[in-house]
Amino acid sequence: MTTQETSGKYVYLFNDFDEAMARFDGEWDGVRGLLGGKGANLLDATRLGIPVPPGFTVTTEACNDYLDAGETFPEGLWEQSLQAIASLESMTGKKFGSAENPLLVSCRSGARFSMPGMMDTILNIGLNDEIVEILATRTHRPRFAYDIYRRLVQMFGGVVMGVPDEVFEAVITAQRRESKARADSDLDAGAWKAVTVRFKEIIRTYTGKEFPNDPYEQLKQATEAVFKSWNGKRAIDYREAAGIEHNLGTAVNIQTMVFGNIGDDSATGVFMSRNATTGEPQLEGDYLINAQGEDVVAGTRTTLRIGQLKDDMPEMFEELEQIAHLLEEHHRNMQDMEFTIEQGKLWLLQTRDGKRTAQAEVRIAVDMVGEGLISREEAVARVHPDQVDFFLHPQLDPEALLDIKAIASGLNVSPGAAVGVIAFDPDLAERWAREEGKDVILVRPETRPDDVHGMLAAKGVVTSKGGRTSHAALVARQFGKPAVVGVEEIEIDLDNHLMHIGEDLVIEEGESLSIDGNHGLIYYADLPTVVPDIQNAYLLKILAWADEFRTLGVRANADYPDDAQRARDYGAEGIGLCRTEHMFFAEERLPIMQRMITASSPTERAEAIAGLLPMQRSDFEGLFRAMEGQPVIIRLLDPPLHEFLPSAHDLMLELTDLKLRMQHLSSLKEMDNVLEEIEAKTKLLERVETLAESNPMLGTRGVRLGMLIPGLYKMQVRAIFEAACRCAVDGLDVHPEVMIPLVSHVGELESMNGPLKEVAEKVMAEHGIEVPQMFGTMIEIPRAALTAGEIAQTAEFFSFGTNDLTQTTYGISRDDAETGFLVHYLQTRLLKDNPFTSIDPEGVGRLMQIAIDEGKASRDNLEIGVCGEHGGDPKSIHLCHKLGVDYVSCSPFRVPIARLAAAQAALAD
Ligand code: ADP
Ligand code: MG
Ligand code: MG
Repeated sequence: MTTQETSGKYVYLFNDFDEAMARFDGEWDGVRGLLGGKGANLLDATRLGIPVPPGFTVTTEACNDYLDAGETFPEGLWEQSLQAIASLESMTGKKFGSAENPLLVSCRSGARFSMPGMMDTILNIGLNDEIVEILATRTHRPRFAYDIYRRLVQMFGGVVMGVPDEVFEAVITAQRRESKARADSDLDAGAWKAVTVRFKEIIRTYTGKEFPNDPYEQLKQATEAVFKSWNGKRAIDYREAAGIEHNLGTAVNIQTMVFGNIGDDSATGVFMSRNATTGEPQLEGDYLINAQGEDVVAGTRTTLRIGQLKDDMPEMFEELEQIAHLLEEHHRNMQDMEFTIEQGKLWLLQTRDGKRTAQAEVRIAVDMVGEGLISREEAVARVHPDQVDFFLHPQLDPEALLDIKAIASGLNVSPGAAVGVIAFDPDLAERWAREEGKDVILVRPETRPDDVHGMLAAKGVVTSKGGRTSHAALVARQFGKPAVVGVEEIEIDLDNHLMHIGEDLVIEEGESLSIDGNHGLIYYADLPTVVPDIQNAYLLKILAWADEFRTLGVRANADYPDDAQRARDYGAEGIGLCRTEHMFFAEERLPIMQRMITASSPTERAEAIAGLLPMQRSDFEGLFRAMEGQPVIIRLLDPPLHEFLPSAHDLMLELTDLKLRMQHLSSLKEMDNVLEEIEAKTKLLERVETLAESNPMLGTRGVRLGMLIPGLYKMQVRAIFEAACRCAVDGLDVHPEVMIPLVSHVGELESMNGPLKEVAEKVMAEHGIEVPQMFGTMIEIPRAALTAGEIAQTAEFFSFGTNDLTQTTYGISRDDAETGFLVHYLQTRLLKDNPFTSIDPEGVGRLMQIAIDEGKASRDNLEIGVCGEHGGDPKSIHLCHKLGVDYVSCSPFRVPIARLAAAQAALAD
């Protein structure tokens, strides 16, 4: 809101709530924007009849106008503050600046969002040399009076005048020594008086200015300091990082002081309406008898648990319970509160929605539904999808993390914690895990498809290179392995089985490492972990409610029966993507696959393909059984063939080796053997070289491969239907769906579909059984999206491969981009989101919309899914819901998250 639109009212008393609300037609958000979070809640609590020390809030508009006007008070602001002080005087019967019965106030900042870097609170404003003297005599509490005065001078000198607090603390330490006092609480009035004199000298030498003796001057300077802190470096940096707008401004809260340090019938503390760690419905917090403000959090005195107050001051405890209950009912959320007890009278000083762990969030949401505080819809909307993730993975024990620092950091690509010994080699990782039962962390520069066995055997994965969609990241997420990738500080020396971190640290294979995939951190230690549980009753409840609300289906990307079973346990309603290539990388299969690729005659090739058939069949059978009754989409082979072959570089090295050996052989027999080997390797190398592509992702892959080697897709379809028929014969309800990847022209689909359907029919006839089935395609090339109407005449379902669709729409290769210019684009905010994390709504989303509209126009029961990595991303799920997608498919571990996000998308509608 700009100056012209403001009402000129800059100051609201705490009992002006209705007036503030009226200005925004009852919109709480408006009040919060005007008065800041702290102020709005204090006005609100006052109206609820909760005892809040009288006060007033100077608006965020005042702050903005002050800053806009070059740091001068806008017209009317100071007069309004003075009026408000006068109101506080008549409410409290005290007088600001008078020695007789002085009104003292605190000055507290409070923006719309709480943020570090804003000015710290100043307590006890209104004291000076004369007033403190009289206060000391009148109250017969000289120690109290001089203590609160030195606090004022200390806080004011620090936060308004910029003297570093250590200087003040040094004075206090010296005084303790002088007075032979063990703690601050042992210092008497005289000691505090002496300390205050020295504080003032320090302020004078440090700033060249005097501590203002005039209470009104104190108030004015404190108010200005809060305004200015909005533009302090820390505050600006924080807003940059948190994406908070810079024009919101902060409010200033001026509030009558109440004293928890006036004797043993006084106390101060903080508490939550429920346990913030577990969510249990009972008060949780700390307090101190005879203490003021920050003493509780400062950690200088040992605080008492709030439960103790029940014995110490039972009435006060009961009143806290009532207040907590009232505020929870009002805010319909768990509250985090500050209180002070002054001579047996309880005051509330702050309330806000409490921060809590994922576990607590989930439990509180469910409990509050039970208590009638919120609806089931609200409970589902309230739990953040990321919080669900917490239940799926072990976490490093938070206690253990208190005493240790991370040695390196990278990208947090797969959540959870893992602890184990380092293996730099996938075979070694597998051996240690399988044979020696060790927990292993696989550490690699990067991973490739033939490292997957090592990744599967490991507890967690670290790579020094690669981005969020690197092979390591994708595979780790797929299998729920905690992973940190792109840890640039690590330099791996594979030859010597060690890694360097920075200049001095050398870590060897076999040493222990702990990784935190949630935050992308690596610890050089064997840390304990804690395992939350997906079977948590509260979480199951939230997810069950989510299922009632969502309209979007959730399937899983799963390649193995184990995966499928897990997906199902997590609530998947079918498999949206089974990538058949993963099956070919297994040790006993790769040679057959290679023989198929390098075959020199059609017969040889046909033999190899036939060799793969039974293996594929048993894979599929496992999947169908695990997914009984639900659809299973199987994608025919997609990647370029060279991925199944060794690299040309390796082959050449081996050949050189063999040739060298030849020169040293004497026995003819041996020579023959080596010659044979050389011949075979040379042949393989030739094949590798013919298959080499400079841009394999845009090359001979997907349906293009199917067109080139028709027997391969036919074999896969045969395997699928043989498996399906076997299951069906056993009485299982199976729904195979055959998916053809990388189609760009309907002609590709037409020429594939006929022969493949024929195979399916034939197999079903052989078994004398029909299984429900579909033949569809992936939409992952813009041309396919743009010609979706034509394609849908042949395809019975679409599944958006949003990873490739993003690559091909943007024309960028994600692996190259993620470490290079894409990072730059994200850092400079040219792009708001990484398009490989959240679907780009304007580009990729628009293509999807066209494909959905035109596809459905030509086939009205066209089934539409999304099977890219985006299928598990809440933002993308919202978009998919809007676009009219039927289901999303994601890795098994994201299934519960997707269920929740889909429900939230439906509820937001
Ligand atoms: P923060 O946002 O850092 O919690 P606060 O403004 O809430 O800062 O205050 C710091 C401490 O001072 C808290 O313990 C608070 O309860 C106490 N406090 C603030 N104003 C008063 C007051 N008027 N009377 C007594 N204590 C106060
Ligand atoms: Mg506070
Ligand atoms: Mg693809």
